[in-house]
Amino acid sequence: MSPHRTPANAGVQPLVRPRAFLGWLGSGVRRSTLAVGVALLLATPATAKLTALEQRMAAAVQAEQDRTLALLERMVNQNSGSLNPGGVEAVARIVRAELEPLGFTVRWVPLPQTGRAGHLVATRKGRPGAKRLLLIGHLDTVFEPDSPFQRWTREGDRGHGPGAADNKGGVAVMLAALRAMQTARTLRGANIEVVLTGDEEDPGAPLELARRDLIAAGKRADAALDFEGLAQENGRDMGSIARRSVTDWTLTVTARSGHSSGVFSSGGYGANYELARILDAFRRELPEPKLTYNVGLIAGGSEVKADAGKIRTEASGKTNIIAGQAFARGDLRALSPEQIARATARMQAIVASSLPGTKASIAFEAGYPPMAPTPGNEALLARLNTVNADLGLPAMAPLDPAKRGAGDISFVAADVDGLVGLGPASSGDHTPAERVDISSIARQATRAAILMSRLARERR
Ligand SMILES: [Zn+2]
Repeated sequence: MSPHRTPANAGVQPLVRPRAFLGWLGSGVRRSTLAVGVALLLATPATAKLTALEQRMAAAVQAEQDRTLALLERMVNQNSGSLNPGGVEAVARIVRAELEPLGFTVRWVPLPQTGRAGHLVATRKGRPGAKRLLLIGHLDTVFEPDSPFQRWTREGDRGHGPGAADNKGGVAVMLAALRAMQTARTLRGANIEVVLTGDEEDPGAPLELARRDLIAAGKRADAALDFEGLAQENGRDMGSIARRSVTDWTLTVTARSGHSSGVFSSGGYGANYELARILDAFRRELPEPKLTYNVGLIAGGSEVKADAGKIRTEASGKTNIIAGQAFARGDLRALSPEQIARATARMQAIVASSLPGTKASIAFEAGYPPMAPTPGNEALLARLNTVNADLGLPAMAPLDPAKRGAGDISFVAADVDGLVGLGPASSGDHTPAERVDISSIARQATRAAILMSRLARERR
């Protein structure tokens, strides 16, 4: 899923102060890369408060930029539409080859029963008693093999391609950060589990099975970091500590039918007036901050039929017949389990106060759970902002969760503190205009490597 964003971030932001960078000039990094890195860094204010190892990670990310982009290009050029299991598994093989040399035990969890490929789960055992980190991303894209959009092209500081940001760009950031940790030896002793789902864009069913391994990993972890896209507002990087839930609802109305002359009296109100009453009451009586409830489809008449997927209906009726059936579907997006409970109870009560001659019922179907902006999530963003301060970067303010869609981290949000948006900045996600902001890859990988290194050495 893609984050909301306003016009892309301008320019390359400095990562390390020059003295820190120049301090380890002798450690064997290619000269051409260094020249570029130093040129970028000369304008940097000397505000960094990084340790020597952290400086080393920042420099390692810069030094490996070409390698990271080559890896991203390979992942993008391998189609992995959610409905293309072979392609999703091929991307998993590329990632496996990256993680195993870093000391991860990599498992492929096939899930053909769900109609999707499966997930990659990788674990790296570190010091007993040290904090356990869960890194979340996904292997699939919305672009299936029949899409004309299949290849990576570089356009200056932009990379154009299917999944260039969502989420192959995020996986590239994650791997760049882990490699930097390996270089600085901060990966040693770290307890890290990586879960890359193969069906984030179009989850398999049943959902309990499709998200079983992710939920289990969440229960083992002390902090979850989701490498989906970096949200930006007015060119500033934003932090994401909350995402709203998605619950689908289906409203079914039946009514006494009859000659239209009897409507409002002996004939009752009919299904269509009852449907209209309910939807209008939703609109007037439910509003509260961060809650939305959309009506996506309605139909009513003498007879209403819906297809198996409940996305198409067929209604028939006449002007002189009181409608006997009506149907509506929509969704509900909320920020916390309490808000979902409150809204659904209110909807049930509205549905139950039927007009004469009518009867209605509403069914809810839970999709993504909410990720509430908990104090634990706020504390993680505060940690990230300490990293930003030490890097000489501006603090990241929390993004309005109404501006971001649902995502996989929501499935672990009830069990572990989490932070979203550790991937790169981009534009045009889910469309053939998807472009990743290349300079944000190194910035995000550096932030992630330092944050993960700091968290990983703490006790649980
Ligand atoms: Zn997406």
